[in-house]
Amino acid sequence: MDTKVAYWLKHKLMNILTFDIEEWFLEKIYFGNHTEKYHEFDCYLDQILDALDERGFKGTFFCVGGMATDFPQIVKKIESLGHEIGCHSFKHVWLNKLREEEVLEDTRTSVDALEQCIGKKIKSYRAPAFSIGKDNKWAFDILADCGIERDASVFPAVRDFGGFAQFGEKTPTNLFCNSIKLKEFPINTKILFGKEMAYSGGGYFRFFPLGFVKKEMAKSDYTMTYFHIADLIPESNGLMKKEDFEAYFKIPGTLKNRCLRYVKSNLGKKGALGKLLKLIETENFVNLEQADAIINWDQQPSVVL
Ligand SMILES: [Zn+2]
Repeated sequence: MDTKVAYWLKHKLMNILTFDIEEWFLEKIYFGNHTEKYHEFDCYLDQILDALDERGFKGTFFCVGGMATDFPQIVKKIESLGHEIGCHSFKHVWLNKLREEEVLEDTRTSVDALEQCIGKKIKSYRAPAFSIGKDNKWAFDILADCGIERDASVFPAVRDFGGFAQFGEKTPTNLFCNSIKLKEFPINTKILFGKEMAYSGGGYFRFFPLGFVKKEMAKSDYTMTYFHIADLIPESNGLMKKEDFEAYFKIPGTLKNRCLRYVKSNLGKKGALGKLLKLIETENFVNLEQADAIINWDQQPSVVL
């Protein structure tokens, strides 16, 4: 038996390692196509892949379909090291900004591009910015129609631009919606400062001290992590131009909205890569595919939407 799987079975601690991979493609289509940026992203990715290799861990890398069409060598490199490739939409447009037919088109195109790139079925999905909630839960039907079996799009608390506070579960869950079934791997949240919050990914991981994250992970029998390369690069992203902000976020690009985004996207960036590498060095992780195989789904909760 795989040693990581054996470890989890013995200790009943399931830490799932996931990355959302989009930076190269977003740089190309939204942020000015600066070639030096691609080298920087490559360098961060390589450090992560090396650290995982050293520990023998496999992660799930949710890639945008545009990575498969425009940067196939990156997707192939990740896959060739034995990691799972999942789908993270085609262009990273948030699903709650799209109509049903647009989500269907986006998901189909993305899954097809990724499958062609790696020559394997894509079974795992995460929506950009966890953008599936109670108002667009029809998106789950679309995912299942496109061959997705495992989803990691639920952020079961209120967050910027959405979240799915009504979902009600923070552990792997059998999700039923109309006639379909998905295995849902939500983000695990807990009440901190009087508010339901995550701690194991994105800006939350950057904000909290590593010792705190590790302590919380040790207390929970399930931790879903999520990291973006852009979260780990220390230099600040500048204040976005009004028109770029509005094209990307699809909300008014007032100075207040842009400043808020600036603070949130730059908080705690210094030292974030070091924290992540330390986490990989000192904790045990599985990916979604491995987790799916060891979970006894009959004993997991069900949610009917
Ligand atoms: Zn993303």
